[in-house]
Amino acid sequence: AAGDHVPVLIVGSGYGGSVAALRLTQAGIPTAVVEMGQSWTTPGSDGKIFCNMLNPDQRSYWFRTETDQPVGYFLGFPANKSISSYAGALDSEQFATTRVYQGRGVGGGSLVNGGMAVTPKQSYFEEILPSVDAAEMYGTYFPRANAQLGVNSIDPAWFESCDCYQYARVSRKTANDAGYGTVFVPNVYDFGYMEQEDANQVPRSALASEVIYGNNHGKKSLDKTYLAAAAATGRLSISPLHTVTDVAPAPGGGYTVGMTQIDTAGNVVATKTVTADRVIFAAGSVGTSKLLVSLKAKGRLPDLPDAVGTAWGNNGNVMVARAGLDLTGALQSGMPTMGIDNWADPNGPVFAEIAPFPAGTETWINLYLAITKNPNRGTFVFDSSTGKVGLNWDASWTQPSIDAAKRVFDAINSKAGTVYRSDLFGVNRIWGDDFVYHPLGGCVLDQATDNHGRLPGYPGLYVMDGSLIPGSTGVNPFVTITALAERNIEKILATDFA
Ligand code: FAD
Repeated sequence: AAGDHVPVLIVGSGYGGSVAALRLTQAGIPTAVVEMGQSWTTPGSDGKIFCNMLNPDQRSYWFRTETDQPVGYFLGFPANKSISSYAGALDSEQFATTRVYQGRGVGGGSLVNGGMAVTPKQSYFEEILPSVDAAEMYGTYFPRANAQLGVNSIDPAWFESCDCYQYARVSRKTANDAGYGTVFVPNVYDFGYMEQEDANQVPRSALASEVIYGNNHGKKSLDKTYLAAAAATGRLSISPLHTVTDVAPAPGGGYTVGMTQIDTAGNVVATKTVTADRVIFAAGSVGTSKLLVSLKAKGRLPDLPDAVGTAWGNNGNVMVARAGLDLTGALQSGMPTMGIDNWADPNGPVFAEIAPFPAGTETWINLYLAITKNPNRGTFVFDSSTGKVGLNWDASWTQPSIDAAKRVFDAINSKAGTVYRSDLFGVNRIWGDDFVYHPLGGCVLDQATDNHGRLPGYPGLYVMDGSLIPGSTGVNPFVTITALAERNIEKILATDFA
């Protein structure tokens, strides 16, 4: 409530925020989480909490009047539809040259993501975060993160026989035929539940085209794992539909935190100020970077380092589809479970998630989200005329990602006798390179913060999310974000709270 004083306030309830919330509450510290999205616990008139991808309604997007699907076209025609404006689960945040997809709600990105839980190769982790003790990460914090996230793997025998991964088997074959290796990828979706869906024993979710607007069943999102465990301590409070807008040193010590409360229609219902001894920024790469860049520019936190807002990257994301010759299946699991692993290729590392195209009908489409090693980095900049924070990212900076992915998929197409689809990302457009699933960086560890996420000059302010990672992890990022947060909060608890 307005005027409250709390020991710790966490901005955002995604991976970084949820890890901090669990470890703080377990240590006996009352913790307040402030989350701009809603708490997804109340079913709509159809009895479901989330809508599916075939029939998106107002629950799909964060305050939009039209859907903005990553695959926004079909046969070159726009595939989006009108919806009413609402505090939906998926935000497509538009910057000048790119748009960044993010989850909105208690659980952050875990509500809308594909659940792929990938631990990066240790050699690459050492390259991107050289100040972090990698042996400690791989010995302690990656295992701890995987255990608490509920990561599990598909039964390989079931994978080979089920209809719903025909698309992955077809993509695997064409990749292997062209000389590329493939790997199974663990997930936080409960594969045991998925097998029961397939056998018609339980309500379908992954097998009912549910993913990017949320899953009604089967997925161990953060509200079911880290946040549920934190709540069980009795020391967690969560304020949904509250957006933090201001943080500044309080006269008597600690920080004043300003926030705006909205209803699900977007009307402002209250503005509040509370005092917190400590504030943890866990609003995601984009959210934390925007907030800190604007607070520095507005003189609220003027002494933040100049590295705040820099070193942002898109994890080398680029999406592409092939028009296959083999049936990919009318029934497709929305949860990816296989990747083409070409990361060791010195001519251009690529880790390509074999993505579903859950259209509910046969499409012969092989879809991929390629993760590449793109060296380009963007910067968040405060615009004093609008009062908003923009992202300086040149549209042409995705070219290294396209080049790397093109080498792999040209070879696959050539061997398989197939072609690219050019009708899914626009008219005559092969590469989906104007959107991002994996924003990373903006407040990089050991640059904008110290080696454990402390913001220099402001004792008690911390960064604890994907913004700590310098633009790339080489794989889907949430396991890395979670493990790094586990490492940092353990250190912070032991030293700053001692
Ligand atoms: P987030 O999870 O984004 O959490 C930040 C939270 O802070 C959000 O809930 C946000 O609403 C809230 N917030 C922001 N600003 C404020 C504010 N000012 N006040 C209050 N609250 C605020 N990664 C994988 O590893 N595997 C996958 O399969 C995968 N698939 C994906 C599919 C999609 C469609 C998308 C969009 C992402 C996917 N990702 C995947 C990426 C993954 O979800 C993100 O990397 C991850 O969620 C980032 O974690 P985070 O803690 O940094 O921030």
